[in-house]
Amino acid sequence: MSESPTKARQKRRKFQAIRGTRDLLPNETALWNRVEQTAHAVFNVFGFGEIRLPIFEPNELFARAVGDDTDIVGKEMYRIADFLELVRNLFVGKTRYPSSDAEASLATEIKMLLQILVNEAHRALATQELDTSGENPSRIKELSDLLRYADEKWPAFSPVVDDPEWQEFVSKAGKAAEGIAIESLSLRPEATASVCRAYIEHNLQQLPQPVKLYYMGPMFRRERPQKGRYRQFYQIGAEVLGGSDAPAIDAEVIQMLMAFFNKINLAGTTLVINSIGHSADNCRRTYVETLRAALQAVKSKLGPDSQRRIDTNPLRVLDSKLESEQSIIETLPRISDHLCDDCRANYAAVKSELQLRGVIYKENWRLVRGLDYYMRTTFEITAQGLGSQNAVCGGGRYDGLVELLGGPPTKGIGFAIGEDRLILSLQEGGQAAGASADAPVAGRSAPLVYIAWMGERAYATAVRAATDLRNAGFGVELPPVAQKFVKALGQADKLGAKYALILGDNEVAEGSWTLKTLADGTQTKLPEPALIEHLRKSAG
Ligand code: AMP
Repeated sequence: MSESPTKARQKRRKFQAIRGTRDLLPNETALWNRVEQTAHAVFNVFGFGEIRLPIFEPNELFARAVGDDTDIVGKEMYRIADFLELVRNLFVGKTRYPSSDAEASLATEIKMLLQILVNEAHRALATQELDTSGENPSRIKELSDLLRYADEKWPAFSPVVDDPEWQEFVSKAGKAAEGIAIESLSLRPEATASVCRAYIEHNLQQLPQPVKLYYMGPMFRRERPQKGRYRQFYQIGAEVLGGSDAPAIDAEVIQMLMAFFNKINLAGTTLVINSIGHSADNCRRTYVETLRAALQAVKSKLGPDSQRRIDTNPLRVLDSKLESEQSIIETLPRISDHLCDDCRANYAAVKSELQLRGVIYKENWRLVRGLDYYMRTTFEITAQGLGSQNAVCGGGRYDGLVELLGGPPTKGIGFAIGEDRLILSLQEGGQAAGASADAPVAGRSAPLVYIAWMGERAYATAVRAATDLRNAGFGVELPPVAQKFVKALGQADKLGAKYALILGDNEVAEGSWTLKTLADGTQTKLPEPALIEHLRKSAG
């Protein structure tokens, strides 16, 4: 029988990376590695240690830390579709109105869903995806028992929805199902929440404070992809948790960031700072109310997003990029005129600590973070060549966050660098050169030595030579099948090798090998034991 057209089409399907995600090939990863290694080195000298975090966490963690009403959590989070949760919710929904539909089909559906729910719940219990310490096991056992009871009592379906026993069964099963505690998970949209969770979970407040941590890795947001904006993107971030909130800490974090950008030669950076006051000292609360009143007065001139934010989060209006709103925003009251004495002194101290460290900054009163626990210092760094998505880093102080997640009162400040944008800016600015010099061909690094071997005896020697050279740290390409010397030399050239090591039966018999420098065609004859020393010397 011939293949169906659908099958044939499926076979022909070409897979591509999902929109907003991408492959980084070796000619690019060289630069990524250079950036990451520089981050390790710079952050280490500032006393930061690396933390590696899971890529998924409970929704609840992000909802609490980032905020339910933010775009990141409200609209952009990749929730992991959980089959058990879906079936459970469907089932509970169906059991709510058991007699609203007199059709036997409803009863069939209820029993079928219960069957699926019980199977899936047992599987999730066995893998401990469900918490096994609480009431989950007993609820699931109750559901199994109810299912068995229903199977015996109503083996075939006639309409039973009017039967009071059926109704009792449905109501009991619905309640038991509702009681299963299911943790919904999401791919992380950012990592500060996870760092704070880890700080609490591992009692890091017992270590000498502050604890200085950094991380790097992928983050996930459902965004509309464009240049510099991806759905899987990478961040390099750092957090200082615990201890004091001295202005010197804020300044040192920013100094480290600028030292890192400097070390990787990121050109055209601008550091912008601001202070957004302190909610507990009331200066921000008073300012937010003043701002809200001023916004109400110009409400009709604002776009729908900003109009909505007057109620939900007036500070976010200041973030607006809408052209028509810019002149209005310029007339609004500014936080700098409303800071309390403590916050004003703190901001002045942060600025003088930055000056002491030679860090150049600009101020922008519109740089805010919308969440309540952000306070005082906020900062952002922009770079060149990125168009509208030109922020490569955002950060700020968040003294209330650890406490919000159930930990002790803890000071905190941190930042996240968008690594994709950082790389893009390096590439656009031409500072990426050099990083990929050893990778002229996508897919491999240029070898130092290409072993051009011919003949069976030579092959065994070639394998040994490749092993010895690689152990000594030299890049070696060993062709898997014999080639004519002309072809082998051509291949060595294409791969960008510096030398070809010529091993034919003669060379092997003599124990004296020929090393050909490909750039100028010169050849040196060397006894086998002298080869590594010779390469070391010529590598300088
Ligand atoms: P945020 O966590 O939103 O404060 O972002 C910190 C930094 O991450 C930004 O300054 C960007 O450089 C980068 N970033 C945020 N979202 C994306 C995205 N969708 N694609 C690429 N980079 C991003």
